[in-house]
Amino acid sequence: MDILEVKKLWSDVKSELRETIPAHAFYSWVDALEPAGYDDNTFSLLTVHMMAPQIVRHSYYSQMSSAFEKILGKKVDFSIDYDAALAEKYKKEKKKESSRPKSLNKDSEEDSKTMDNLAQMQSFSNLNLKYKFENFVVGENNRFAHAVAFAVAQNPAKKYNPLFIYGASGLGKTHLMQAIGHYIIFNKPKLKVKYIKTEEYVNELIKNLQYGGERNARMEKFRQKYRNIDVLLIDDIQFLESKTYTMEEIFHTFDSLYNNNKQIVITSDRLPKDIPTLPDRLRTRFEMGIIVDITPPDFETRVAILKNLAEVRCMDAPFDALEYIANNYVNNVRELEGAFNKVSAYADIEKTPLTLELARRVLNCEASKKELTIEMVANAVSEYYGVTVSDFLSSSRNQKVSGARHIAVYLARELTGKSFENIAEFFKKKHPTMLYSYEKIKDDIKVNKDIERAVNDITNSLRS
Ligand code: ADP
Ligand code: MG
Repeated sequence: MDILEVKKLWSDVKSELRETIPAHAFYSWVDALEPAGYDDNTFSLLTVHMMAPQIVRHSYYSQMSSAFEKILGKKVDFSIDYDAALAEKYKKEKKKESSRPKSLNKDSEEDSKTMDNLAQMQSFSNLNLKYKFENFVVGENNRFAHAVAFAVAQNPAKKYNPLFIYGASGLGKTHLMQAIGHYIIFNKPKLKVKYIKTEEYVNELIKNLQYGGERNARMEKFRQKYRNIDVLLIDDIQFLESKTYTMEEIFHTFDSLYNNNKQIVITSDRLPKDIPTLPDRLRTRFEMGIIVDITPPDFETRVAILKNLAEVRCMDAPFDALEYIANNYVNNVRELEGAFNKVSAYADIEKTPLTLELARRVLNCEASKKELTIEMVANAVSEYYGVTVSDFLSSSRNQKVSGARHIAVYLARELTGKSFENIAEFFKKKHPTMLYSYEKIKDDIKVNKDIERAVNDITNSLRS
């Protein structure tokens, strides 16, 4: 088959997969797969990540199979092979891309993606339909956040303003925030609700600024769009870029809404004081209302979340199977859901009941995935760089030690789900020092191939 046709097919399959594979896995493993051919009922793909063939096959086989089946109209096999030459090319391109301004990577279609209000979002996007209070499971980890969010939904701009929700990735921040939106649309349809992802807001703003002649008119329109609403939901504010104009704009939007008694809800993966690019006058505003956190769910809550999922899908799932899944996915609800989805997909495909044995068999590779501790991460990094963990804990400023220490801190934060406080405690350092290391490596990865490779190698060794 013509490679252009193959590419087109793969692009359609990918759109399917974007809906069914958890975002983190999709962007890590699936997005960069390159179609190579479609012959003999087998779709061939190449990858630039050594681990991808194994991970995609083991974890997302059924999603891949169904996506191919849906697009190609029949069951087909697929193969994924690692391609070293492609890996080189990919790394070069990635480097080029990261040095290009972000706004140029987005096209005008992005605009239409930021929906005008949640009512539209409700009808247009399946993904968000499920983010309601009704299917948000309340546990000790989110009880307070949930109570405050519900109070805000019942009395927008009357009680807690702004509401700032923070917590690690995959713990339900977006879900809770959108639940507020759905509730208000349903119960107070006159109120105008708007949900925005910070990154999209920033991109849209930058694009407007880049237009020549009509710039003022455009900016005025942009401003009105965000100020002429009753409830503004801003997701993942940690992505706010430190560009002065962006800060200025969001600052004025905030004040305009706040002074007109409109509700503002913000989410972030950390506290306002831990977002290094956030200027003080914005930080104080974010801290003006109420700040609530969501932590990883305890065992009981994880089981309850799984039970809820089983119920929603009308599946019989015995307690021991749910217990097994809950025991193996502790830090991230998105991954917990992913594991359940995989087991239930197998049950569907094989037309067998969902049992403990099935869960064990299906999740085998993931279940052996150990939960990583800060110590394990520190050990792996020290081995990689030929230094010792006690070097990390010392105050040594030796270049080799401090370079490796930055990476250990970065990976500890990325891989363990522990807070900066916990990490600071382990490394016997101050909290801001840990933040500095984290942000440094996060930036360095984008421009320094060696650091990128080291981070990937260590991550793979820890996860294998
Ligand atoms: P975050 O925004 O914190 O990264 P999300 O809100 O996207 O996390 O949640 C990740 C997934 O986990 C979503 O599918 C969400 O519905 C689910 N989820 C998280 N917390 C809960 C909960 N308490 N009850 C039910 N589902 C939850
Ligand atoms: Mg989110």
